[in-house]
Amino acid sequence: MLAAMPPSSPNPQDRGEAHIRDRVRDRGDACPGALRLHHADDGALARLRLPTGVLTPRQVRSLADAADRLGDGHLSLTSRGNIELRGLGEGCGLGLADLLREAGLLPSERHERVRNMVVSPLAGAEVQAWAARLDELLCAEDWTPELSGRFLFAVDDGRGDVAGLAPDVTLLAASGGGALLRVADRAYRVAAADAPRAALAAAGAFLAAAREAGTGAWRVRELPAGQDVDVTGHLRRAGIAAQPVPDAALPAGGPPAPGVLGDGTDFGVSVLARLGRVTTAQFRALLPAREVRVTPWRGFVLPGLAGRAAAEERLRALDEAGFITRTDSPWIGVTACTGRPGCGKSLSDVRADARPREDGLPVHWSGCARRCGHPQGVTWTDRVATAEGAYETTVVTVQGSTK
Ligand code: SF4
Repeated sequence: MLAAMPPSSPNPQDRGEAHIRDRVRDRGDACPGALRLHHADDGALARLRLPTGVLTPRQVRSLADAADRLGDGHLSLTSRGNIELRGLGEGCGLGLADLLREAGLLPSERHERVRNMVVSPLAGAEVQAWAARLDELLCAEDWTPELSGRFLFAVDDGRGDVAGLAPDVTLLAASGGGALLRVADRAYRVAAADAPRAALAAAGAFLAAAREAGTGAWRVRELPAGQDVDVTGHLRRAGIAAQPVPDAALPAGGPPAPGVLGDGTDFGVSVLARLGRVTTAQFRALLPAREVRVTPWRGFVLPGLAGRAAAEERLRALDEAGFITRTDSPWIGVTACTGRPGCGKSLSDVRADARPREDGLPVHWSGCARRCGHPQGVTWTDRVATAEGAYETTVVTVQGSTK
């Protein structure tokens, strides 16, 4: 068992909602994008938003080629289902943009950093279409680039998997048809055909509230306490019939487990990337596939395989390629920040130091007290570097969490 020690550095459990709501921001967010590169110690970093989470085989090949030709030969997966290329050389931004544009991964340069969306990886056609339509709407509006690069939409197929990822605006497929729109503590039932426009209207309501508050909030939870978000008015002005749902409870589902997925007619596989990073050879090993779905749990789902035997064969191949393919892997739930050499703040090479889990809790390894990418909403083991190869260990307890 890991020893629980009182932390000497800022602990994430001390950062409450009040702290967030008291914050006044005097600048826009500095989130990197595909065009706005972040300059790290190991070269430039590009973050590519994948709003629907779906990549075509051609896009998989294009991204692998980009990482080989321009980057460090790896692709990193983020907790929002985005893909990062690291180690990009000086002056490669234009070449990367051309490559992404040709692959259909850059539909609007103005909007590329606000296409933040997580979608249930096992979603069917209707929910996938909501996500694709919401992305089109986001990219068609002049005002949406005012959203911060951190504002997050979730499009959930009803199982409650991505709805639990602390989104700002949630669309959830409702039993009996239609969608539940949720923003802050309000929920509305809307028709399926209106769902994407309703999510966009909710984002508009947030922006209006943020302007009114004048605190520069990037996210709904950063709005000052008592600040009204006029979702009802924005829905009405958009011509969307919405029925308020008081005390709406969202289902709480989990991510797809690694292994074969299927119910007798429709098969696929789910795999995870160890520490959220893959080599380009691993990434290419996801093919052949009809499509590759990138998940916010740093994994991939390959749907549409021809039967259980084909799915098992694909899983074996992906296991050999180095993916996590079994539910009993001790690497499930182990995450790490970038650490050295990519981050100058890191006291150690956390990715090299990270070890498999020793108990049932998720473990996050950080190179400093910022704890970038730490788990949300669950109790977890926090391992923060205090010197090269030395770590302080604490269990961060989340009230109400069962794991
Ligand atoms: S937690 Fe610290 S060391 Fe790790 S990526 Fe964030 S800033 Fe860098």
